[in-house]
Amino acid sequence: MSKDRLIYVPLGGAGEIGMNMYAYGYGPEGKEEFILVDVGVTFPSMDSTPGVDLIVADPGWIADQKDRIAGIIITHAHEDHIGALGMIFDQIEAPVYCRRFTSLVARAKMEDWNRDPDHITMVAAYPAMTKIGPFNVGIMPVSHSIPEASGLVIDTPVGRVVHTGDLKLDPNPVVGEPFDPDFFAEIASAGVKVLVCDSTNVFSRAPGRSEAELHDPIQQLVANAGGLVVATTFASNIARLKTLAQAGFDAGRSVCVLGRSMQRMLGFARDANVLKDFPPLVDLEHAQEIPRGNLMLIVTGSQGERRAASAQLANGKYLGFQMKEGDTFLFSSKTIPGNEVGVARIINDLASQGVRVIDDSVPDYHVSGHANRPDLERVHDMFLPEIMIAMHGEYRHLLEHTHIAKKAGIASEVVPNGAVADLTGHKPVIVDHVETGRIYLDGRELIGAMDGIVLERIRMATRGMVAASVILEDDAFLGAWVEVLGLPDPKSEQAELAALLEDELESEIDITPPKALRDDNEVIERLERRISHIVRGLVGKKPVVRVMLNRVEADE
Ligand SMILES: [Zn+2]
Ligand SMILES: [Zn+2]
Repeated sequence: MSKDRLIYVPLGGAGEIGMNMYAYGYGPEGKEEFILVDVGVTFPSMDSTPGVDLIVADPGWIADQKDRIAGIIITHAHEDHIGALGMIFDQIEAPVYCRRFTSLVARAKMEDWNRDPDHITMVAAYPAMTKIGPFNVGIMPVSHSIPEASGLVIDTPVGRVVHTGDLKLDPNPVVGEPFDPDFFAEIASAGVKVLVCDSTNVFSRAPGRSEAELHDPIQQLVANAGGLVVATTFASNIARLKTLAQAGFDAGRSVCVLGRSMQRMLGFARDANVLKDFPPLVDLEHAQEIPRGNLMLIVTGSQGERRAASAQLANGKYLGFQMKEGDTFLFSSKTIPGNEVGVARIINDLASQGVRVIDDSVPDYHVSGHANRPDLERVHDMFLPEIMIAMHGEYRHLLEHTHIAKKAGIASEVVPNGAVADLTGHKPVIVDHVETGRIYLDGRELIGAMDGIVLERIRMATRGMVAASVILEDDAFLGAWVEVLGLPDPKSEQAELAALLEDELESEIDITPPKALRDDNEVIERLERRISHIVRGLVGKKPVVRVMLNRVEADE
């Protein structure tokens, strides 16, 4: 009989910032019982995943052992931790545990996918502990940028694991519990075997700044602004929504929140009673009556999303509002790598209309929700773990964070997505690698990243497409129709490309030997090759080509 072991397997989030999904298992090898921490999404890009709606870590490996998942715990309601819960719940079905505000968002995520929201159980914070399989799990409130952000205290048969979730050390985070060193000290006092720690800002060398530092500069900015003031941030950054609204209100303006996702998050926060002292807001109809110089709008679309309020305002009108010369537009957010082009487009559109734009190059109006390097070192010092595992980062973040721990004498290894780390002993040992990857939400369907669908889409987008229908009557050419999509007509020829190709198809049929003509596949292959060759010669592109062959029999 094999010995019981404690394993940690990141399925997403340890190789990218996004789509967090971490499994902890305990038991004999191959028979471990699991808890799954977070079920998040990451966002697609026009370059690598055009048309895709969302990206999720492939849960395949843990889904194959679904009956041994004792529970799912959601640390907080940011999309990169909760976004895929409803989407893939049928594959990982187990009781879901989280705090009150998170549970309201989680229930909505389940309902969006017609799943039973009663799978969600609301739990209280540490020192309350919940027995989930072989683990005793406590919710550890941490400061971040959303209400009820949590780390986890996971007591295992071989010792205590602290999973930080997303955290910063903010004594005044505006919403959510402030950082309290005594609270961490109490959790650490029992001895911490493993610290699994946020790595997002490991390259930021200055100590992190508090959310509370933003109020005065933003109030100043709004007070000195002439026309309409618009500010944008992440919909789920409720701390920032409050900071912005309070600063606008204190500068003497009426504040209106626009954008469905922001309204929705505020609604959840109100329902969960975590929005104490939120300044008064005006509704849309009211806002439209207020002179521009007395109004501040808080809108969605800080990452340049085309359909969100920021892009629409930059483009023209949105819900009756239009930007004018002398207005101010504030990005109170950091542009996520990959989104620069969309954000730059908005900035240029606004600037060309005479709007003063303040982007993330000005540090006064944005602070991160994650711990910077000196704060991470402080987290290590507070918990004094035997082992530190870096998570929530790209590979370079994990590597750097691991170096820091090792230098401080803490056993540490980089554990990227799919690596199985055995944490039973005094140092982490990578004992196995399991298959991980990404799945895409495409419309309402989940597709594998390797299914070829998106690759085909990229090919069509970059090369254009030719679709042809060819009719043969008793192996003789009867007619052809060609549709050309996304390709230019050749300048050197008089005819349109489609008409030229129709002639080419006819001549290809004419030179095809009779034996080959009887084989559909061979005919299609020859015709597709011919089209490809001709288009390449005429316009220099190698398009996606599809030929449909139809046969009719001549009347007797
Ligand atoms: Zn977060
Ligand atoms: Zn996160």
